[in-house]
Amino acid sequence: MTALRLYNTLTRTKEGFVPLDPTNVRMYVCGPTVYDFAHIGNARPAIVFDVLFRLLRHTYGENHVTYVRNITDVDDKINARAADEGITIRELTEKTYRIYNEDIAALGCLPPTKTPRATEHVQQMIAMIQTLIANGNAYEAQGHVLFDVSSKADYGKLARRSLDDMIAGARVDVAPYKKGAMDFVLWKPSDENTPGWESPWGRGRPGWHIECSAMAGEYLGETFDIHGGGIDLVFPHHENEIAQSEAAHHNHPLAKVWMHNGFLNVEGEKMSKSLGNFVTIHQLLDDWGGTGWSGEAIRFNMLRSHYRQPMDWTLDGLEESHQTLRHFFVGLEGVRETTVPNEVLEPLNDDLNIPKAIAALHQLKKENRNSELLASFRLLGFSGDSTRITRKISVTVGFNLEVGATVSFDSDNIPEAVRESIDKKVAARNEARKAKNFAESDRIRDELLAQGIVLKDGPNGTTWEIKR
Ligand code: AMP
Ligand code: ZN
Repeated sequence: MTALRLYNTLTRTKEGFVPLDPTNVRMYVCGPTVYDFAHIGNARPAIVFDVLFRLLRHTYGENHVTYVRNITDVDDKINARAADEGITIRELTEKTYRIYNEDIAALGCLPPTKTPRATEHVQQMIAMIQTLIANGNAYEAQGHVLFDVSSKADYGKLARRSLDDMIAGARVDVAPYKKGAMDFVLWKPSDENTPGWESPWGRGRPGWHIECSAMAGEYLGETFDIHGGGIDLVFPHHENEIAQSEAAHHNHPLAKVWMHNGFLNVEGEKMSKSLGNFVTIHQLLDDWGGTGWSGEAIRFNMLRSHYRQPMDWTLDGLEESHQTLRHFFVGLEGVRETTVPNEVLEPLNDDLNIPKAIAALHQLKKENRNSELLASFRLLGFSGDSTRITRKISVTVGFNLEVGATVSFDSDNIPEAVRESIDKKVAARNEARKAKNFAESDRIRDELLAQGIVLKDGPNGTTWEIKR
């Protein structure tokens, strides 16, 4: 068995993974900003690092891995949304985080070992900022505290950008209280309408970057094994986390390995709230266009792309994932899982090459090695239970002047009332056809099609199926 190798953004190479302490492998992943439903792009780091968490537990033992994923529950977007809805930020973030947890759990993600909230660690942030000021890495200006990037000679080492280039590329409208154009906020003042905490610099709130440095330090120590997040976080967020944490911790490295998942795109563009091209996890699980997908199909669709590559999110891909997973799971009923075979572990250990591991799963299926297949799926966070790979379909029952009601059900278990209703519509269409009223027969066919019911005219009459 080859040992685990991981691609490190810091060195831009794949490296053998040697934990600092094999009895406590430590990983930090930047978590969600909880002001709204998470979109499917946000699910990518949650799923990717969940697979890594599971692989680490498999390798080092369930109780020998600490996975911390924070909750950003203080942020200007949160303040604005809470004000809009007329609720407190705590109410908004509680509600949003509860839904986030439900969504992520439906996608098969284990709860991390710790999920610290930023608002519960403000004292640690203040303490860290004080250390940075004392060390000459930060300065106070007009109620703000800023990190002085010129005080850190290797600033830019993760993103591989030099300070001179960054300054040349910076916008001209630099805030007047900043000494350097790239200096970033550690603390900022809050007015009476904005959430704030008492601090040596007046009432205010932390900047985003210091949250992660403080919480990572609190739960994982000065140096830990793996730090993860989406590729968009490399700069400035992770660069700034490194600068703060190292400057506060005698220049000890923050994390040994830096890992980043690629973007999830829609038609070549990053899925994001600001572009408006997003689909929420909740919508996909629930009833997007009348079709609720299983969390496992969504997870499988995500894992078919290599985690570092950009991936395109399409409905066709999701449909294909649904079918593939069903095909895999049918036949696993009553099977007992054994060990995960090397053909699956080897590619996983090679920087999480999950697509290659999936190719090995197809081979196991072909060879009828069902016990190993089940064990492999369980390692990747799947149930192996085909009855869970269903889709919710919504159909309006009732016809023409009858009042319709929308019924949701699993695609494999069509209620009798729905069958009857569809049969009636098909019969009415046949009548219209017999009477050569093709406008009416086409209308009925289209009405059914709009609900995902496809008619097939054959020699023995018309049959129908639900298709999405
Ligand atoms: P946010 O809530 O925007 O701070 O993002 C939470 C996590 O989702 C971060 O790790 C981001 O890098 C990641 N993320 C956001 N959008 C995408 C996307 N379209 N594809 C992949 N990862 C994303
Ligand atoms: Zn972070």
